[in-house]
Amino acid sequence: MFADLNQKVAVITGGSKGIGNAIALRFAQEKMNVVINYHSDEAGAQKAVDEIRQNGGDAVAVQADVSTEAGVKALLEAAVSNFGGLDVWVNNAGMEIQTPTHQISLEEWNKVISINMTGVFLGAKEALNYWLDNNKTGNIINMSSVHQQIPWPTFSSYATAKGGVKLFTETIAMEYAPKNIRANNIAPGAINTPINAKKFADPKQYAETQSMIPMQRIGDPEDVADAAVWLASDQAKYVTGTTLFVDGGMTLYAAFQDGKG
Ligand code: NAD
Repeated sequence: MFADLNQKVAVITGGSKGIGNAIALRFAQEKMNVVINYHSDEAGAQKAVDEIRQNGGDAVAVQADVSTEAGVKALLEAAVSNFGGLDVWVNNAGMEIQTPTHQISLEEWNKVISINMTGVFLGAKEALNYWLDNNKTGNIINMSSVHQQIPWPTFSSYATAKGGVKLFTETIAMEYAPKNIRANNIAPGAINTPINAKKFADPKQYAETQSMIPMQRIGDPEDVADAAVWLASDQAKYVTGTTLFVDGGMTLYAAFQDGKG
């Protein structure tokens, strides 16, 4: 438990399912008040709200597209009007489209970049302005990926967006450190969420992915939520501008295991 998080207010984008959902439920265990953003899955977001309220916490579900200014404004407004402020903003929403790079349309490229990268900028900007205007400290957690580091053929738009998020986070961490506003990335490896549902339903692809992970286990959304709650807490009060890899060792070059190479 992280006592300092009690009654703090968090916005989590893309919180109706997967990693964002696990973070919302984990934050609520700390008695944080949570704004759970969803894009289209209202039922998923409402289920999380109901579960949190049944356990004595508080949450609201808010529809918004994070790639729009109106969307992120609605999320901040929900935090302030329902819970009186904002302490932690988690830019988690994301998506991927697989296409060989020479065939990606401009429309598809722009869509992946605008949700995964511009959405992070817009969310961070909204939160930063709130904290600066109100002379408050704050905490931004951006969901990057091991693909901020590992190139990913046929997913160049996604890898580009995540690489951009890495340097964006490092830049704002430096820019706002004097105001005691922290910004960090979490870089998950292969996590069992809806984004991977099709791939992991195929036993061959599941085993292939598993073999790329030194710990030989696909991660659970809760593994990522445990990292997020620590970064949100005061126990990470001197941590800013870093990327916390939650990947079972995926970025350690598994092909070299057992002395190969
Ligand atoms: P997911 O598909 O389960 O969840 C993604 C969420 O983002 C969904 O709720 C979706 O509705 C939301 N979203 C998409 N576009 C949106 C928009 N325009 N506005 C608001 N919400 C939007 O996937 P996940 O695995 O939980 O992914 C969460 C984050 O973690 C993403 O940023 C993803 O890139 C990252 N990630 C996931 C993995 C993995 O293996 N699952 C690995 C590395 C990074």
